[in-house]
Amino acid sequence: MKKVFCIGELLIDFVAENQGSDLRKASVFTKKAGGAPANVACAISKLGGNSAFIGCIGEDPFGNYLEHILIENKVDTLHLQKSDTFTTLAFVSIAENGERDFVFSRGADRELKYLPKIKSEFKGNMLHLGAATALLGGPLEAAYGHYFFDGLTERAFISFDPNFRQDLWKRRESAFIKKCIPFVEKSHLCKFSLEEAQLLSGKEDLTEACAVLHDVGAEAIVITLGSEGTFLSTGTRHGVIPSIAVQPVDTTGAGDSFIGCLLYLLSGLDDPSEVTGNFEFLMEMVRKANVAGALTTTQFGAIPSLPSQEELKQALR
Ligand code: ATP
Repeated sequence: MKKVFCIGELLIDFVAENQGSDLRKASVFTKKAGGAPANVACAISKLGGNSAFIGCIGEDPFGNYLEHILIENKVDTLHLQKSDTFTTLAFVSIAENGERDFVFSRGADRELKYLPKIKSEFKGNMLHLGAATALLGGPLEAAYGHYFFDGLTERAFISFDPNFRQDLWKRRESAFIKKCIPFVEKSHLCKFSLEEAQLLSGKEDLTEACAVLHDVGAEAIVITLGSEGTFLSTGTRHGVIPSIAVQPVDTTGAGDSFIGCLLYLLSGLDDPSEVTGNFEFLMEMVRKANVAGALTTTQFGAIPSLPSQEELKQALR
């Protein structure tokens, strides 16, 4: 089984309890582990896979809490870096008009250093790059680029998720698109939400969007569509792979659970890069990953609701 190195941010999400009020009015917040690449690492390990996290936390109680969550979920933390800077915090509330009210206190996540010694570990393994904060500048963006380059030179399988956050890129969407292109160009697998596929391609229609993104260089593309399932495109074939019916209570982390499961299944192959053009083969994996995503919506919180191998097996039965 290949090891999947998940690279990017790990942070604390303070989620306002009294939803429907903006941050100014919110008074009670719940502390939750956040950061898409860290969620993906946990998703892989919970399914019985082999994952490692490369990112940076602060040497403070919040950083300790996040490290503990990774360890508890059996994620390899050997390359988890610690900085004097305070752990990154995000405060979020859903205002009355349904809009997200969001304050981001950027800290240690941006301090990730590039360590050349990790490169050799990428050989024959896999990299998952989740870009939410990684393209915002600072040492993290430089380190992220180096790790990506190392993954390419070591011929690792590369998966990319742009994790576009409107709050972080307001009025700078074109800069975001420009920064994502090299990753789309070189990755074996790209995971997009509907909004991301449309933003990066400039096309509304998913078939046309995928045509543009394949032209850029993307091999296999998966576009998550919530309850409708996932649009899969291999360049020669495309189609929607349906999900299962569930009663969702919290959709946070469904996309991370989905891509984590897909990467876990791919990590069991001798050479996952050989199947990126094989629609039939990927379709079966996407069908299972849809179930992992769906299960994650049936409980509160991202990491606590990621399915174990046994829970996924049961749901697939
Ligand atoms: P995130 O929620 O992490 O930002 P995302 O928007 O990419 O990510 P979704 O599209 O919400 O993720 O969900 C990922 C996958 O999980 C979907 O492609 C689908 O297969 C499954 N899924 C999500 N919500 C539901 C649902 N309500 N019913 C059934 N399946 C679902």
